[in-house]
Amino acid sequence: MSYKNEQVVVVGAGPVGLVATAFLLDAGIPVTLIEATADLAQDLRASTFHPPTLDFLARIGITKTLVDQGLVCHEWQFRDRTEGVVATFDLSHLAGETDYPFRLQCEQWKLTKALREFVENHPDGKLLTETRATEIGQDENGIWVRATHADESEVEVNGRFLIGTDGAHSIIRRAIGANFDGITIPEIFLSLSTHFKYHEAMPDLANIAYVSDPSEWLVLLRTPSLWRVLLPTNPDDSEDFIMDPENVEARLQAVLPTDRPYEVVHKTAYRVHERVVDKYLDGRIFLAGDAAHLNNPLGGMGMNGGIHDAVNLVEKLVKVWHGEPLESMERYQRQRRKVALETVQAQALRNRAILNATDPKQRADYYDDLRATVGDPLRHKEFVMRSSMITSLRELETVE
Ligand SMILES: Cc1cc2nc3c(=O)[nH]c(=O)nc-3n(C[C@H](O)[C@H](O)[C@H](O)COP(=O)(O)OP(=O)(O)OC[C@H]3O[C@@H](n4cnc5c(N)ncnc54)[C@H](O)[C@@H]3O)c2cc1C
Repeated sequence: MSYKNEQVVVVGAGPVGLVATAFLLDAGIPVTLIEATADLAQDLRASTFHPPTLDFLARIGITKTLVDQGLVCHEWQFRDRTEGVVATFDLSHLAGETDYPFRLQCEQWKLTKALREFVENHPDGKLLTETRATEIGQDENGIWVRATHADESEVEVNGRFLIGTDGAHSIIRRAIGANFDGITIPEIFLSLSTHFKYHEAMPDLANIAYVSDPSEWLVLLRTPSLWRVLLPTNPDDSEDFIMDPENVEARLQAVLPTDRPYEVVHKTAYRVHERVVDKYLDGRIFLAGDAAHLNNPLGGMGMNGGIHDAVNLVEKLVKVWHGEPLESMERYQRQRRKVALETVQAQALRNRAILNATDPKQRADYYDDLRATVGDPLRHKEFVMRSSMITSLRELETVE
């Protein structure tokens, strides 16, 4: 089976591929979106939406759906595990800079579900599920993708351009020969989700809290239905040991002792990488999202940064579709690679450094700086503009 040429082909229906597809459709460009799974990921992954992401998604009418199903958070905190609150950041400083001066806590699958409906209801949108791309290629006129359907039939899809949003293990990245240099964070990240109401047990706790400690930092994140506890974990321990219910219970009791066992409804342990591709494009083929960059989740910038890639990429591709030279796409690479390295990765690494610093003087200096930042309205605003990813989007306008 083969498909028409006058379209863009997107491989991977995670949040980034779906946003790219929806924005292309909204601009009047037909898209075939190829996805390996049947139902899209349903598990708990990213859960934070930063203000500019909500501004972007509002253009295609998705933000309201998310806000209706999410938790609006006007504040987030840096805490010390022993001393408690160090600094509370107030996102109302962003009023006037965005239509959404808050962080929205909402599960990633709610976004992909809403976008899937958008794509499937659009006359020019075609979603091929249970179809795994295996090979790709291009010539001066277009691209092709070979894929295998779950029933083992082969599909060939053609188009003018190809967007690879096929995640961390991207085959598109490999096919264009992009290097994915960087590091793997030594500790494993263990994410535990529970119905326990931390906000009732710790009344001064914000819905998003980064908790620093020299021996075991942690993150407490509230979603509409659950609290998530993120803990660093010894990579020498076996997965069975890490996931053992007794060990999990002991770790949660160490965070906050309770008279009843915690009810853990979801747990994952994963390795975290800090990597950015050396090239985001090759001719008519482009990379976006986790296919192009991976970083630690401290700051909630992975999915958000990927969505910002998709919006930037589509804005430029629409112009190329209508006749601008293909070379103009290179600005996409210059802009988004710079953000991935200098903003997302640098900030995520700094967040980790503050959380796990062991030297008492260094910790005290970090805390003093955070307290001084929230105490000064100008610095406070500058800080939340940066942590909310507004500054990175504005700065990239200066990248030619
Ligand atoms: C277990 C887990 C927990 C996470 N937790 C957090 C968190 O707490 N906070 C945070 O900020 N981020 C977290 N992330 C990262 C976040 O989910 C990603 O940054 C985000 O999903 C990136 O979106 P994406 O669309 O680029 O890639 P993905 O969401 O990975 O989507 C890629 C899609 O491509 C499809 N695909 C792959 N190969 C092919 C192929 N050959 N053919 C067709 N389709 C293909 C996949 O099925 C998938 O649907 C987590 C990720 C995982 C896996």
